[in-house]
Amino acid sequence: MGTVVISLDAELGWGFHHKPLPEERLRETRENWLRLRRLFDRYDVPATWAIAGHLFLNSCESCHPNHPAGERCCTRSIGDLPAKDIWFGNGLIDEVATASADHEIASHGFTHIHFNHECMDSELASLEVRSCVDAAASRGFDLTSFVCPVNKVGHRDVLVEHGFDCYRGVNPAVESQNTLTWQATKLSSSVLGRPTPPIVDPHVDEHGLVNVPASLFLFNIDGKYKKPFSVVGTDPVVRQVKSGVDRVAESDGVLHLWFHPHNLQTAQHYERLHSIVRYVDRRREESDVRVETMGEVADRVKRAKRPASGLE
Ligand SMILES: [Zn+2]
Ligand SMILES: [Zn+2]
Repeated sequence: MGTVVISLDAELGWGFHHKPLPEERLRETRENWLRLRRLFDRYDVPATWAIAGHLFLNSCESCHPNHPAGERCCTRSIGDLPAKDIWFGNGLIDEVATASADHEIASHGFTHIHFNHECMDSELASLEVRSCVDAAASRGFDLTSFVCPVNKVGHRDVLVEHGFDCYRGVNPAVESQNTLTWQATKLSSSVLGRPTPPIVDPHVDEHGLVNVPASLFLFNIDGKYKKPFSVVGTDPVVRQVKSGVDRVAESDGVLHLWFHPHNLQTAQHYERLHSIVRYVDRRREESDVRVETMGEVADRVKRAKRPASGLE
C-alpha cells in the first residue's frame, strides 16, 4: 500500500532573512496559509506543516545573538506590514491546528538559520532546536517531526536529544546526481513533465531517526524555466506528480511532495496545487494509496522495525 506525504515549510519572514523582505509577498503568504487550509479541508488531505518556531510566540523580548538578520530583527516591520505579521504566526498556527484535516504541526528550526550556515555550530543548533520545541510546547504542541531549514540536514544528534522521531531527508535524485545532471533533470521536468519523481523508502538512520526523504519540490522549475513550459499547455509538474501517484499506488513506498506557502504566487500555482490534491484524493478513493503525515510514516516504520515482542 503506497503513501503520499505532503510537507510544507512555513516560515513567513524567517524564510527571507538573508535578503530584503518582500512586503507584498509576505502579505500574500499569510493569505496562502488560509487558502491552503481550505484546500486541504475540502479534500480532507492532511499535511505536515513544518513551522519556524519563532512563529509560535505571541511576543519576543529576547535577543537573537549573531542572527544574520540582526539581533532584534523580530521587531522590524516593513511598510504597512507590522512585525507581528512577519516574525510571529499571529493566529495562523491556530488556523492550521483547528482545521478539519488532521494536519501534523512539525518543526522547521526556530529562526531558520540553516545547519551549514557559517555561524552554525552545535551550540547554536541546540539553541535553535530547543527554542522551537519550547515555543511550541508553550502553545500545547508536542513536536516529533523536523524539516531542516534550506534542507541542510545536520546535527541529527541534537534532534534525537530533543525528542524528534523523524526528519525530511534529501531527494535521492539530488543526492546521486552532480549539479549539471540535476539542472538537466529540472529542465526536462519543466518542459516535459518527467521523469516520474522517485518513490522513496523511509528508513531508520544511524541515529535512530526515521528519514522520510523528499521526492519532489513542487515549485522547482518556476522563474527562469517559466517560458519553456508555458508553451506546452498543461502544467508539467501536475503530470509529473500524477505519474508519481500512479506509481506509488502500485508500491509500498512513499511519494513525498513539498513546497512553501510563499511559493503560491499566481493563480496557476494555486491551480497546480489544487489539481494535485484533487488527484491524490481521487486515487485514494480508487486504490489502496493513502495520505499520511511524516509523523505517521515514522510511527509505522518504527513499529515495523521493532521485533515481534513474543511472550512477556
Ligand atoms: Zn524574537
Ligand atoms: Zn525553510
